Amino acid sequence: MTTTDAPAAAPSATPTIPASPADVREVLVVGAGQMGSGIAQVFAQAGRRVLLADVSAAQLERAKAGIAKSAGRLHEKGRLSAEQHAGATEQVTYLEGLDGADLTGVDLAVEAATEHLETKLAIFADLDARVPDGAVLATNTSSISITTIAAATQRPQHVVGMHFMNPVPVLELVEVISGLETTDAALELVMALARDIGKTPVHSQDVPGFIANRILLPMINEAFFVLGEGIGDAEGIDAVMRMGMAHPMGPLALADLIGLDTCLAIAEVLHRDLGEDKYRPAPLLRRYVAAGRLGRKSGRGVFEY
Ligand code: NAD
Repeated sequence: MTTTDAPAAAPSATPTIPASPADVREVLVVGAGQMGSGIAQVFAQAGRRVLLADVSAAQLERAKAGIAKSAGRLHEKGRLSAEQHAGATEQVTYLEGLDGADLTGVDLAVEAATEHLETKLAIFADLDARVPDGAVLATNTSSISITTIAAATQRPQHVVGMHFMNPVPVLELVEVISGLETTDAALELVMALARDIGKTPVHSQDVPGFIANRILLPMINEAFFVLGEGIGDAEGIDAVMRMGMAHPMGPLALADLIGLDTCLAIAEVLHRDLGEDKYRPAPLLRRYVAAGRLGRKSGRGVFEY
C-alpha cells in the first residue's frame, strides 16, 4: 500500500465542552466597552482567569480604570470580599487584539463588541479558528440572532447567547439564549455558569430582542416618539415613568445609559426581523445618533453628563 492510498484518518471525536462551571477556568471577553469590562469583572471576581480584548487601546485603559473603580466601590460597601476584589483587579489580562495572544487555555469566549451584525460574524469566524475546539462561544448581543452568529462558526452546537444586564456587576439577571443548533449540554453549562458567578439565568428562545429587549426597547423607542412629538419634555417623560410606574430609571435616562447607538441598533433589528411597522425606530433617536449624541459614553445623549 502506498502512502497515497492510506486510509483517511478517522474523523476526530466531537470536542468535549467543559462538564461543569468549575471546569470553566479561563474566559476570553472580546470587546472592552461598558458591557465587556463588566463581564470581565464578574468572571474575575468569581475566581476565573480573564483575558479582555479590544481593538482600541484607549478603551482597554478605560476598562481597567472602570473595573478598579467598580470593584473598589463594591468592596467598600461590603458586597465583595477581599478575595473577590483582588480577583477583579489582578486576574484580568488586557489584550489589544488577539494576534500573538496565548488562547490555548480558553474554556469560554464571551463576545461583547459593538451591536453590529457584520462585526459579530467576523469576530465569531475568527474566534472559532483561534480558541480550542472544546471552548464554548457566547455572545452578549442584545438582539441579533444567535443562530445567525453561530452559523459563522464550525461549532454552532456550542454557541449560546449570554446576555448580561447593564451595569453587569450590579444587576442579577442573565438571559441565556439557545440558537437552533445549540445542544442542551452547552445551554445547561451556560445556565449553571451564570448561577456559579452569582447571577440568575432566564432562558429565552432565539427571537429578535429575546425577552428583555422585545419588551424594553419598544418602550424606550416610544419615549423618543413622545419626546419628538413634543408631548412632554425629557424630564417630564422620565418623571412619569419613575414616579408613576415605579421604574427605577426613566426610559430616556436608561437609553443614555445603554447607549443611543445600541438602542437604535436593537430597534433596527426588531423592525427588520419582526417586520412590523410598530417597531419603527423613532426619528428623534436616529437624529441623536447621527449627531454623535450617544448617551453617557459620549458625554451627551438626551441629557448631558
Ligand atoms: P460599547 O460601545 O460600550 O463597547 C463596544 C466595544 O467593542 C468598544 O470598546 C469597541 O472598541 C469594541 N469593538 C468593536 N469591534 C471590535 C472587534 N472587532 N474586536 C474587539 N472589540 C471590538 O458597547 P456596549 O454597550 O458594551 O455593548 C456591547 C454589546 O453588549 C453589544 O452587543 C450590545 O448590544 C450588548 N449589550 C449592551 C447593553 C447596554 O446596556 N449597553 C446591555 C446588554 C447587552
